[in-house]
Amino acid sequence: MHFNKLTDVYEQLEKISSGNEIRQILADFFKEVPKDDIHIVAYLTLGKYCADYDNLVLGLAEKSVLKALSRACGVSEKRIKELAHEKGDAGLVAQEVMKKKPQTLIPVGKLTIHEFFDALHKIAKIEGSGSQEKKSNVLTNVLSKCTPLDAKYIIRIVLGTLRLGVAEMAVLDALAIAYTGEKKNKEQLEAAYNLCPDVGVIAETIAKKGLKGIETIGVSVSRPIKMMLAQRVSELDDVKKKMPGIVCVEGKYDGERVQVHKTKDGKIHLYSRRLDDTTNQFPDLVQYVADHIKAKEFVLEGEILAIDEKGNPKPFQLLMQRRRKYDVEKYVDKIPVQLKVFDVLFVDGKTVMNKPYKERDELMKKMVKEGKHCTLADKIYTDDVEEINTFFHTMLKAGYEGVIIKSLEGEYQAGTRGWNWIKWKKDYVKDLADTFDLVVIGAFYGRGRRKGTYGALLCALYDTLNDSFVSFCKLGTGLSDELLSELPDKMKKYVSNDIPARVIVKKEMHPDVWFTPAIMVEVEGAEITKSPSHTAGLALRFPRFLRYREKKVEDATSVREVEEMV
Ligand code: ATP
Repeated sequence: MHFNKLTDVYEQLEKISSGNEIRQILADFFKEVPKDDIHIVAYLTLGKYCADYDNLVLGLAEKSVLKALSRACGVSEKRIKELAHEKGDAGLVAQEVMKKKPQTLIPVGKLTIHEFFDALHKIAKIEGSGSQEKKSNVLTNVLSKCTPLDAKYIIRIVLGTLRLGVAEMAVLDALAIAYTGEKKNKEQLEAAYNLCPDVGVIAETIAKKGLKGIETIGVSVSRPIKMMLAQRVSELDDVKKKMPGIVCVEGKYDGERVQVHKTKDGKIHLYSRRLDDTTNQFPDLVQYVADHIKAKEFVLEGEILAIDEKGNPKPFQLLMQRRRKYDVEKYVDKIPVQLKVFDVLFVDGKTVMNKPYKERDELMKKMVKEGKHCTLADKIYTDDVEEINTFFHTMLKAGYEGVIIKSLEGEYQAGTRGWNWIKWKKDYVKDLADTFDLVVIGAFYGRGRRKGTYGALLCALYDTLNDSFVSFCKLGTGLSDELLSELPDKMKKYVSNDIPARVIVKKEMHPDVWFTPAIMVEVEGAEITKSPSHTAGLALRFPRFLRYREKKVEDATSVREVEEMV
């Protein structure tokens, strides 16, 4: 299929903000896409060229992109840079300058999506000296075959600024409509996507093998599984209502979640909460896993904690210093870590996610040979809320964040925030305040001391039902002068001229600058009140910035979670 078929659809999508319309247009288009191309179309529509967990990075500097454009159209690099600066969107600049391209023998508009996709993979694989030049040349080659409109989207894709307002869930909906005729079948696609978070695989399977093929998608070791999340209660007593009888209460550790995969041939892979491959960051942990976990092949989960010489936990901020590409070995010595194993999903050829937690817990006991750098989560079994509370305080004294209460009958629900896990944290006890993970959707210019930068950020909750972001508070407190001065630069990439797709805000809350949902902040607050001005229907009073969070925007605190709290 030619790339310009895709760009025609992108042009339509760009003008639409209604989620339903977007889904319908995509579904109609998917029906026309040859089955061998559908995985590519699914990736590109999300501005991607592989699954998120694939470590494939284009590594193409903006300068090299503009150089490629300059060579393809004959306009000087200097002029292109000026235009890019003026317009703030290199995609639009590409469209404009490509119109001036002199005619050559290369036919224009014949670029296929396969060619473009292969070129992206080729660019990602080029390494070593002179790689920017070589990468840029591949892009020039692509651009010389495309129309001005194609160039607009090609440049946006390579710069990571496509932003059609289409997220994974919309693509799954559209696939369900296109290939099964019914949107409700998206549930099955979503369940498969939770086990196999690769939209390309899902698209190809449904297109070629239908729902029957989707049913056969299961766990595959070394392909990460979307992680299960915990619900929360406003009073500890409510745990009894949600989970009558005996429960397992475990320490809640404030470190970094990890999913550990060991393949039959002994290779160990680590994946973060965002499903990024973090194996290279933790060579020490890879060795601990090899030494302490008995089984040939497995998928298990735990929390990585920074520890001192005695094995006591150190703050999360310290662990964050292990997020690095360089000096990894130096930091292995500087910041030792420990793995607290708390779940097992797959062992020696069998999926155990669907087994009750008490069975998975037994399995873990058999698999983990405990030591300073690898232990099971601390836990008790009880049906008494008082005992839960006492254990909670023991965990706080030990330097942990709280407890997670787990249903003994509960399955591992991939990608779901269900009631099989309930968290109870120290923030819940002080004041009413809990912390919220909010998405930054806009900013208001500052006054006085904050003149010239942003004074407050407009923050949103995620509305799971409507796949949208609804305003919840204006955040101005807790942001140091240093953080504030860095903000315009940090947010530059996400500035949007109009209300971004999926963002819903009342007129009186319109900010000075809009941002496409991308950046998440953790915020604490004093009180939740009803609010006619915020589209969440609720507002957080006295919000205070705590830190940035590295999560997908769809994992932000949801309206439903906040409603449960009031
Ligand atoms: P928070 O913002 O409260 O840390 P979150 O949004 O990151 O939570 P939750 O679903 O609220 O995720 O809490 C589950 C997180 O708690 C897991 O992602 C994991 O990193 C961490 N955790 C720590 N100890 C445990 C445990 N024993 N069992 C399960 N998860 C645990």
